[in-house]
Amino acid sequence: MQLAHRVSKVTPSMTLAIDAKAKALKASGMDICSFSAGEPDFDTPEHIKAAAKQALDRGKTKYGPAAGMPELKQAIADKLASEDRLEYTADQIIVTNGGKHSLYNLMMALLDPGDEVIIPVPYWVSYPEMVKLADGEPVFVITDAANGYKITPEQLEAAITPRTKLFILNSPSNPTGMVYTPEEIRAIAEVLSHHEQVAIAADEIYKKILYDGAQHLSIGAVSAEMRSRTIISSGFAKAYAMTGWRIGYLAGPLDLIKAATKIQGHSTSNVCTFAQYGALAALTESQDCVESMRQAFAQRREVMFQRLNAIPGISCLKPDGAFYLFPNIKELGLSSLQFAEMLLEEAQVAVIPGIPFGMDTNIRLSYATDLNTIERGCDRLYTFVKNRINNQRPTVR
Ligand code: PLP
Repeated sequence: MQLAHRVSKVTPSMTLAIDAKAKALKASGMDICSFSAGEPDFDTPEHIKAAAKQALDRGKTKYGPAAGMPELKQAIADKLASEDRLEYTADQIIVTNGGKHSLYNLMMALLDPGDEVIIPVPYWVSYPEMVKLADGEPVFVITDAANGYKITPEQLEAAITPRTKLFILNSPSNPTGMVYTPEEIRAIAEVLSHHEQVAIAADEIYKKILYDGAQHLSIGAVSAEMRSRTIISSGFAKAYAMTGWRIGYLAGPLDLIKAATKIQGHSTSNVCTFAQYGALAALTESQDCVESMRQAFAQRREVMFQRLNAIPGISCLKPDGAFYLFPNIKELGLSSLQFAEMLLEEAQVAVIPGIPFGMDTNIRLSYATDLNTIERGCDRLYTFVKNRINNQRPTVR
């Protein structure tokens, strides 16, 4: 069959593929230590599940408004106001099938052929592919460990052209876990204030998962002007352990939200009606579950960070958000894909190579898994690297 040209422009998600491979090996009986999944290992908190079950029992099984349930949109608007000092009316919000769908709607609503989208590297795997699907052109800006894998104001200024339509800012970041400080956000906003044609996609899906007193400042809260040009993308998957529920949202200028709603109205329509009641409970009931999961992640981060940095040839920055570590493995002389494949085959440890995040010198490990798996996996990683270094020695000499 002659497929559409747009399909050949995108590559399949390598993170999903590796995660699926690790799960298949596990299902076949192999003892795999998996650090590949970008999802909390916790079950969705009981009160959230109960709200969705009750909604089902109350017959909340019909079509709803394409942009989402009004009560849920209002609850999202209330939270953005109280937590982030971002004032939106409910009609400036659209509820989507996950943060991924939010961003896809956003690109489809905003980009025309040839529009440039600035994406700091390393990036979440789907950004460039979504930009290409919407006929835009990704413009990559490579960051480095010295700057905490964060784009500098100077780099941003240099990357902006008259064709720049959108800048994607993801903090806390997947894959690095780095969080832009309020000062860094303000400095980025200052650059953007001189380029009024540039909109900002602020992917804040990990904003509740912060450590060591790190602060999240939404770029939309910096000034009225920034707010008018920023579109917030977020969701329930990470903070509330609701990955499979598929609920996210966009908050932004009314015309953009209306455009996204038009697209959603002809593609997916509303998010599963009774699932939206679960999301409503997540926002309006106790937030203790978010804090207890965060504390568990904090402990695991500490252990994994110490263990990785004790491995020769591996160096890792300490992230202050999300649940990933992004160590550099360059010294070990393998591409990130070779490293990940050999590690899975020889040591039964699943990690994601850096290449789909745009950085082949690194690998991504998720610590959204239990401490025992972290300890065992790090033992195996240590042995794998030691063996590799020992075997390399004769050739190196
Ligand atoms: N943005 C980032 C940075 C992510 O890491 C993810 C998921 O891994 C998403 C958005 C999308 O999340 P979901 O579609 O599961 O809500």
